[in-house]
Amino acid sequence: MAYNGAENMSAPNLALDSQAHRPPVRSIIDRAMAGVPLGAQEAVALIECDDLGLLLDAAGELRDRVKGRDVTYSPKVFLPVTNLCRDRCTYCTFRKDPWDPEAWTMMPHEIIDWSRRGRALGCREALMCLGDKPEVAFREYRQTLQSLGVRSTIEYVQQACALALAEGLLPHTNAGVMSYAEMGRLRPVNASMGLMLEDISTRLRKRGGAHQWAPDKEPARRMRMLEEAGQLKIPFTSGILLGIGETSAERALSLIALRDVHRRYGHIQEVIIQNFRAKPNIPMADAPEPDQIEMARAIATARLVLGSEMNVQAPPNLSPNDIELFLRAGLNDWGGIAPLTRDYVNPEAPWPHVEQLGERCARAGFRLHQRLPVYREYINDEWIDPVLLPAVKQAAADLKTA
Ligand code: SF4
Repeated sequence: MAYNGAENMSAPNLALDSQAHRPPVRSIIDRAMAGVPLGAQEAVALIECDDLGLLLDAAGELRDRVKGRDVTYSPKVFLPVTNLCRDRCTYCTFRKDPWDPEAWTMMPHEIIDWSRRGRALGCREALMCLGDKPEVAFREYRQTLQSLGVRSTIEYVQQACALALAEGLLPHTNAGVMSYAEMGRLRPVNASMGLMLEDISTRLRKRGGAHQWAPDKEPARRMRMLEEAGQLKIPFTSGILLGIGETSAERALSLIALRDVHRRYGHIQEVIIQNFRAKPNIPMADAPEPDQIEMARAIATARLVLGSEMNVQAPPNLSPNDIELFLRAGLNDWGGIAPLTRDYVNPEAPWPHVEQLGERCARAGFRLHQRLPVYREYINDEWIDPVLLPAVKQAAADLKTA
């Protein structure tokens, strides 16, 4: 499949990146509010601007124009199909080697059991979250796949999605970098799929960088997958990860890259602004976490770069003290919240109780609603496989009457 975007995306021009060449922030905000697509330098100027109040208020106003005061979340079951992964990101506690006592691959009966229990608790999303290409790295895992009667992780995920669907959940798969053919294979059993861009900077892949040992974190590979997901008409979730060694300018450029691929295909249904959380036992244990102001800047810049229609999300369990600030910064979604399963990627951070989150939203002037893992505007035969569409429409109808 031809791809002609990666070269442009990995090297946005920062040659003019000096305060002297930047237009005043007020005029950049006026252009964003008028729906004019911002340039890379303008996005950098926004995320680094001195007037935080101006930035946040503009982003909140732009959100209100389309989203109003409605914020959403997706009740989900987190199904970590396998925590084996061929990559080694220096901030990750999720991945394990096969010989680690905490390594696992979920068996079909576990997928069914967790899905059934989640559905009974009101969940609608089955988040299939797993490591990247473990069969490439581990002979033991290849044997596991063989014993399951499949040839690849993606083939197994396809089966897992079918099992979750049969239990009344709508799958959303995040299996790392997938090929065009792999995504095509999963499309009939997924309401949406996802891949965090994390960051567009190739610096992070260099010696000492967070992604030095993670070939699947090469930005061009990830942008290619985002491009191909658009060609396949898959409602898609992506986002950026703050605090892994990137600069604030690189955060802004990553948002521009996401905006540009979305302009070509219209498939990015939500953009997550996620913060790195330090944990013991990882190489980045002592790295500073991004503070709430950095997060608010990124959320507001995302809103102004991506526009009033985009769903902008931050995980509430990673910033439990900043709910009101993030709402002010233009966010309109809290992502998946799991009543049954923990956050396997950030196990130290419990999900908030939905009632408490709803109360805090209400006190800030917002109404909290449930949503599906695919947003309303994508529930049609252009974006959802015809085999799956009746189940998605039924779930949307159930949601309306709930
Ligand atoms: S963050 Fe994802 S790709 Fe990186 S090591 Fe962890 S599971 Fe693998």
